[in-house]
Amino acid sequence: MSRKILIAGNWKMNGLISDGAALAKEIASNVKNLKPNAEVLVCPPFTLLTTVKKALRGSKVMLGAQDCHAEEKGAHTGDVSPVMLKDAGCDYVILGHSERRTDHKETNALVKAKATAALKAGLKVIICVGETLAEREDGKAFEVTEKQVKGSLPAEANASNTVIAYEPVWAIGTGKTATPDDAEAVHKHIRQVLVNKCGKGVASRMRILYGGSMKPANAAELIAKEDIDGGLIGGASLKAADFTAIIEKAK
Ligand code: PEP
Repeated sequence: MSRKILIAGNWKMNGLISDGAALAKEIASNVKNLKPNAEVLVCPPFTLLTTVKKALRGSKVMLGAQDCHAEEKGAHTGDVSPVMLKDAGCDYVILGHSERRTDHKETNALVKAKATAALKAGLKVIICVGETLAEREDGKAFEVTEKQVKGSLPAEANASNTVIAYEPVWAIGTGKTATPDDAEAVHKHIRQVLVNKCGKGVASRMRILYGGSMKPANAAELIAKEDIDGGLIGGASLKAADFTAIIEKAK
C-alpha cells in the first residue's frame, strides 16, 4: 500500500515575524522540486500563521497550527478555535502533542473533542501519541499508545483527514531517537489498532509519522521502514537546511 510521505515541522514556541517569514520562504524555495510522493507541512506558533501563509504563497508547502480549542467560538480567553485556524489558511492542526498532554494536562477525551471540532471545521489533524521513558522501561509502549489511539481518534477519522504521529516522549528534544526497529514495532502495533478501530482499508491508508529527534542523519533509515510514513520534526525543522535534508530523505 503506497502512502504519501508527510514531513511536518513543529516550530513549537519559536520564531518572531522576521525570522519566521525568512524560514518559511527558504523552505518553500528549497522544496520547489518536491517528489510527487512527498508532502511538506510547517506548523508555526499562532502569531506567525498569517505571516507564514504569505511567505508560502505559490509553494506546495502546507500550513498547520499546533493546537486548537474544541469549541467554534465563545468565552475561552487565550484559546483559538479550529474555525479561526481554517480562516487563517491552515490545512492541518497538531493535537495531543506530549508537551500539551504534560503542560496542559490534556486527556485523550479532550484530544478527541478537539479533533472532532477540527475535522468539522475542515482541517486535517495530526494526533500525537507516545510513551514516557518509565512506561517504555515497564514494557508498556504498546499498551500506552494503543490506549491513546483508541481514546483520541474521533469516529469521523479516516485516512484522508487524519494522521497519527508516534512520538516517544523520551525521544522528544533529547537527541535520543528510537531505533528504526523499535519505532517500526510500535508503528506496526498502531496500524493493527487502527485495523480494529477503523477497518483494514482505512488502517492501510492512514499515515503514521515518527517524531523524536529526527534529523538528516537518521531520517532515511526511519522513513525506510514499512509503517513509518514520514516525520513530525521539532528542533531540526527550525533550520531550513536540516529540514530540507530530511525532506530529501523521503523514500
Ligand atoms: C516534536 O516536538 O514533535 C519533536 C519531535 O521534537 P524534536 O524533533 O525536537 O525531538
